[in-house]
Amino acid sequence: MSLELDERQRAMLQEMGVRVWSPAPLSARTGELSPEPARQVKAAAAEAAAPGKPVVSERPAAPVGKTVQQTAAPVPTTAQPLPADIAAMDWDALRQAVASCQACGLCESRKNTVFGTGDTQARWLVVGEAPGENEDLQGEPFVGTAGQLLDNMLKAVGLRRDGTGEQGVYIANVLKCRPPANRNPQPDEVAQCEPYLRRQVELQQPQIILALGRFAAQSLLQTTVPDVARIPLGKLRGQVHSYQGVPVVVSYHPAYLLRTPQDKAKAWADLCLALDVMQRGEAASA
Ligand code: SF4
Repeated sequence: MSLELDERQRAMLQEMGVRVWSPAPLSARTGELSPEPARQVKAAAAEAAAPGKPVVSERPAAPVGKTVQQTAAPVPTTAQPLPADIAAMDWDALRQAVASCQACGLCESRKNTVFGTGDTQARWLVVGEAPGENEDLQGEPFVGTAGQLLDNMLKAVGLRRDGTGEQGVYIANVLKCRPPANRNPQPDEVAQCEPYLRRQVELQQPQIILALGRFAAQSLLQTTVPDVARIPLGKLRGQVHSYQGVPVVVSYHPAYLLRTPQDKAKAWADLCLALDVMQRGEAASA
């Protein structure tokens, strides 16, 4: 995949509300691409990583009339060994285990578990926080308008949730069941459910993970970033983290971007950073 955008990708970015730079002109004398697009991506990434930026909560909006805890729920700080039964599961066994799981109280209010979707052998893994109302109803992550925005963002870098191979992506959440009224995940719920995601990563072996939203980032980085629960998402962006040896790039949750469209350009910079990490990884292994 390349950062050179075709007309379809440019149209998608414009639909997202992301300002698209001018087509990279070829130098009349050398035939080389203008460095301007790469410079703009780097500038956007640097701007995203700048300290002292005001940070706005990226939580999905709570339903009207509902009271939702707004503070970050601390997550466990040490990784427990993967339970032996989960460590031995293949995709089918893992899916069945999640479908019948009653390890935390969220099983009581869920309509469906939301295991994940996409190509299980894809090089990209997108990790969100937890199912919302629509996801709970449909049993699939990132549906509705936030899902459409995510799909458009992924398409802009050549990825499709129904694609395979180079175009494939797998999409999952940290929690497989919906917290009632979109409340924040609780530490015990994250602790109980995280082994499923860890096994998904083991089975998929992605080359890049895109963590969307504060709780996804906290869950993935709890053992590699000290005191991660106290670090605003904005300060986790613009750098490459690690989860089980897989590079992790942090970005905003699409639901937040729907409410804060001015940050879509930062999300695009995050995607470009992830794409750059992928390409550098490919070049290193070639
Ligand atoms: S959220 Fe996870 S741990 Fe809790 S019941 Fe659902 S699948 Fe099990």
